[in-house]
Amino acid sequence: MHEMSLAEGIREIVEEAGRSQGFRRVRAVVLEIGQLASVEPDALRFCFDAVMKDGIAEGAVLRIDVMPGSGRCMDCGATVGINALYDPCPRCGGYRVQATGGTGMRVRELEIE
Ligand SMILES: [Zn+2]
Repeated sequence: MHEMSLAEGIREIVEEAGRSQGFRRVRAVVLEIGQLASVEPDALRFCFDAVMKDGIAEGAVLRIDVMPGSGRCMDCGATVGINALYDPCPRCGGYRVQATGGTGMRVRELEIE
């Protein structure tokens, strides 16, 4: 389960933002997670609550926006929307779709008090 290390990464980003921007309390963290990022939102929420304890985002709400996945088909050359890695191309049915979007995760917004 890599959600724990992702949550620790989020904590570092949040604490660093607090230090550089001078706020002490975060009410909500808004995350963008790509549909192809292999992140389990429920597992991440669980880890988030545990990891944020005793920090500036303790008890903060975690909001997750899932970004759609997209890829480029190596067979027909089309750029297509895909729901999972290794999904076939919806145009030609080929399995050589290279993921190009929705593969990452980032902190988009912090709501502070
Ligand atoms: Zn194709």
